[in-house]
Amino acid sequence: MDCLFCKIIAGEVPSTKVYEDDMVYAFRDIAPTAPEHVVIVPKKHIASANDITDDNINYVTAIWKAVPKIAKELGIDGGGYRVVNNCGSDGGQTVNHLHFHLMGGREFGWPAG
Ligand code: AMP
Ligand code: ZN
Repeated sequence: MDCLFCKIIAGEVPSTKVYEDDMVYAFRDIAPTAPEHVVIVPKKHIASANDITDDNINYVTAIWKAVPKIAKELGIDGGGYRVVNNCGSDGGQTVNHLHFHLMGGREFGWPAG
């Protein structure tokens, strides 16, 4: 399968690892939009939020269990952070492997725009 994030998980494309467990891989975004910007992905190809089901929701649970650990590791747990999922073209998704952006180290406005 020609999926960039599957290749990153497999080590076929280099990445800067921030966190890994048996279900989750997290790495620094190549084009950060905040002082700390990590991409968190399931170690299973799920194309987008549209494809979350009862059979794979455990990967989403595992990602959210990893979020506070990664935030603490990055030192952004105290100041706070934003977690974003982009789904589909209107949502701004450019890589069709479910992922969550964890961003911190600056203030974010709301509404997000
Ligand atoms: P999205 O637009 O939500 O699909 O997010 C995809 C993210 O992946 C973007 O923020 C990109 O900067 C990031 N990205 C693309 N290629 C790489 C790569 N090789 N290593 C790390 N991050 C990447
Ligand atoms: Zn994939």
